[in-house]
Amino acid sequence: MDTTPITIAGQRGGVVHPLESLHPGSTGTAPVQALYIHIPFCFHKCHYCDFYSLVDTRDRQEAFTDRLIAELARLASFAGPLTSIFVGGGTPTLLRPDLWRRLLACLHEHYELDEAEFTVECNPETATPELFGVLAEGGVNRVSIGAQSFNPTHLKTLERWHDPDNVGRAIELARSAGIACQSVDLIFAIPGQALAEWREDLDRAIMLGLEHLSCYSLTYEPNTAMTARLNRGDFEPANEDLETDMLLLTLDTLRAHGYDRYEVSNYARPGAECRHNLAYWRQDQWLAAGPSASGHVAGWRWKNIPRLDSYLGQSEMSLAATIDVEPPDTKRAMAERVMTGLRLREGTDARELPEALHHEARRQRALGHLVIEGDRWRLTDAGMMLADGIASEFMGLL
Ligand code: SF4
Repeated sequence: MDTTPITIAGQRGGVVHPLESLHPGSTGTAPVQALYIHIPFCFHKCHYCDFYSLVDTRDRQEAFTDRLIAELARLASFAGPLTSIFVGGGTPTLLRPDLWRRLLACLHEHYELDEAEFTVECNPETATPELFGVLAEGGVNRVSIGAQSFNPTHLKTLERWHDPDNVGRAIELARSAGIACQSVDLIFAIPGQALAEWREDLDRAIMLGLEHLSCYSLTYEPNTAMTARLNRGDFEPANEDLETDMLLLTLDTLRAHGYDRYEVSNYARPGAECRHNLAYWRQDQWLAAGPSASGHVAGWRWKNIPRLDSYLGQSEMSLAATIDVEPPDTKRAMAERVMTGLRLREGTDARELPEALHHEARRQRALGHLVIEGDRWRLTDAGMMLADGIASEFMGLL
């Protein structure tokens, strides 16, 4: 599979945006219905995080919002009526309420979003009645709150600085403002975390009466402070057996409370699945705005340059400079479809996949890892435990 990023000569500060070569209205078979917006500011850098973010000094928020609004206005000609908008980061709720007002006004001016699921990621410390009022008035109907843990010791290990009690407070504020859906992110397999402590985190989250929960096991991404500490021998990572026990506990506990696992790490009450993330996992199309945001339209993939200075330095008339531009590639698209589709409860569409993969699917079925239902392949609970390994087996056959 050739996934070598290509460089297209041209634009100052980066390469020509792939959308420049497409005509609005002719972007593949369907209009683009999902939009991701990246707001890069954070209080400080959490040790496990490899998202593009920088410590907010409040002096660039206004210039950033000006540039973002210009970019969104340019991107709008490629969008149909939106089914989802997701504002992530960074910490989007660090943006000042007056700037949020301008951003929301821009979205309403240029996009059709009345039917959209509209999510904003939220740090519990930043939730205020004023901000949530502005968000709700602007059509935000879902908040995703980064709780990670309710245990101060484990938050400290992650270098997350928030008071765990503020998670519940943020959820109450969202409800009072009329934001209908609340999700919380949790992390397990934190060094030093016991199974009973993870159970307490799950219980605390369940007591909040959420519609949606994301539960990720801690991963050690390259170039993060957490990985440097691990490599220095500062702590022992959680052992695999404990991690498996934590995952099984998650599954049993959340199912017993009415949450269905619709993706390896995501649980929702029926109908509360995150529409925007499903668009990613189903390999639909999405537009991307803000530094480091990744887009996918008409088979093209790209990433906006992950540097605020470069992003701000560009002409208001241009789309963002890009890196990692990949043109349409049938084989890559097939690999991505299998890779992310296998992580979903609904499984992956097996039509047009090569015979070698069908052979492997039958082998995985014999092992009890996979169910074949017509044109769909779906992992069983046992298969979900091994999802990454099974996906790699399939990838090796493409
Ligand atoms: S708040 Fe989120 S985006 Fe910001 S550094 Fe922490 S994990 Fe990363």
